Amino acid sequence: MPEQHYSFFQSVTRSFDKAAKFTKWDPGILEQIKACNAVYQMRFPVKMNDGRIEVIEAYRVQHSQHKTPCKGGIRFSDEVNQDEVMALAALMTYKCAIVNVPFGGGKGGIKINPKNYAPYELEKITRRYTAELVKKNFIGPGIDVPAPDYGTGAREMAWIVDTYASLKPGEIDAAGCVTGKPVSQGGVRGRTEATGLGVFYGIREVCDMKDVMDKLGLSTGIAGKRVVVQGLGNVGYHSAKFFREAGAKVIAIAEYEGAIVNEEGINEEDLFQFRKSTGSIVGFPGSTALSKNSDALELECDILIPAALENVINGENAPRVKAKIIGEAANGPLTPEADDVFAQKGTLVVPDMYLNAGGVTVSYFEWLKNLSHVRYGRMEKRFTENMNNTLLGQVETMTGKTVGSKERAIIVHGPDEVDLVYSGLEETMITATREIMDLWKSNPDIPDMRTAAYVVAINKVGTSYAELGIFP
Ligand code: NAD
Repeated sequence: MPEQHYSFFQSVTRSFDKAAKFTKWDPGILEQIKACNAVYQMRFPVKMNDGRIEVIEAYRVQHSQHKTPCKGGIRFSDEVNQDEVMALAALMTYKCAIVNVPFGGGKGGIKINPKNYAPYELEKITRRYTAELVKKNFIGPGIDVPAPDYGTGAREMAWIVDTYASLKPGEIDAAGCVTGKPVSQGGVRGRTEATGLGVFYGIREVCDMKDVMDKLGLSTGIAGKRVVVQGLGNVGYHSAKFFREAGAKVIAIAEYEGAIVNEEGINEEDLFQFRKSTGSIVGFPGSTALSKNSDALELECDILIPAALENVINGENAPRVKAKIIGEAANGPLTPEADDVFAQKGTLVVPDMYLNAGGVTVSYFEWLKNLSHVRYGRMEKRFTENMNNTLLGQVETMTGKTVGSKERAIIVHGPDEVDLVYSGLEETMITATREIMDLWKSNPDIPDMRTAAYVVAINKVGTSYAELGIFP
């Protein structure tokens, strides 16, 4: 049967409606939760290096202000259009609600292929876009806080904060107008690996649930689990790293140019270096290559982590996917038809909407750091170390025994910024996983974990709207 094609915003709406049936909200509140509150479509001219004036098309969407500021990345891509930005902004509302990040959803996009522009041209486009947002009050630490997305990174975020601060002299919290900044410009340590680490924490929590593992015919824990990862980019690389470090075997990795298998496990860092020097993952020592990279998705394994593109598992290949657990590290790797196949097969799909929320969670920590104007750990690190040293000394005196230097270093260690960021992310992902699972278990009619995640999100945003009342 041919797959039905929905626009991106329509498919988000479809998932929302499917979940809304399991909530008790007034239809008016549901309409308000779904709606995009503000869509700013803009055009502005930029003079290019060759003297030509180009008119740039760009967007910023604020989906919900049930909590402020709004939060969501800025995408630079040829494919940017209003429907896509609206859908992504809506997903940000639900994602933030699930992981208890007190923001509304937002998203921005500039319709350009960044590869076609020189760095100075990109800088001019980014700065002008920021100035347009300032003019319309669409950016600010208490209004709307962008972040990186496709085609943007720390460099663009540094241009944004600099432009914003120049246009708002004396605004003491200006650094909190954008996240994903370089550490030297107010960024936070641990942001780079945050999404992959969040994926790991979320799946680990699911794997620690005995009833869930029993149903899947798996033992609890991560150690010994066989994992397949699609994509060796930021998210795929870090997911593979944290799974391997926890004792899982990453038995296959797929990339753009091919896929490789090694039942003994693949070290992602060695593979990354091999790819850097040879240009391909194929031929990696100890591995065998599959004939098509998409074959990796159909391997016998416990956990499949698609961390590359959207729609890679659909109605056509889903029946051949043998993984017991699919962790959606990428955004939208499964089509709605694939969801139906997995719900029938009893495969556990851990949904993107919360599983890849590590980035936005750590962005929240960055924003808090900017508002408090102090690095995490600065106030308590030494105090904690001195206190731990004293305590350990007392224990040693009382017992007449001393601990080794390695153990001593672990016991006395006071938290650095990265320790606190990891710990905050771990807490966030564990709490979110439990909340979704508890709700799902309490309502067996809910067909899958994605719908359960939406129900959690709708209930949280609905509560906010209901408690706020509607401004006359
Ligand atoms: P990335 O560009 O660093 O990595 C993507 C990788 O996938 C690249 O190495 C690319 O070569 C590979 N790839 C492309 N086509 C492939 C194919 N057919 N088969 C196998 N591999 C293929 O991007 P990323 O930041 O790792 O993001 C990956 C996904 O995760 C995206 O869907 C993104 O929206 C989502 N995501 C990323 C973040 C983040 O913090 N980076 C946060 C949330 C969600």
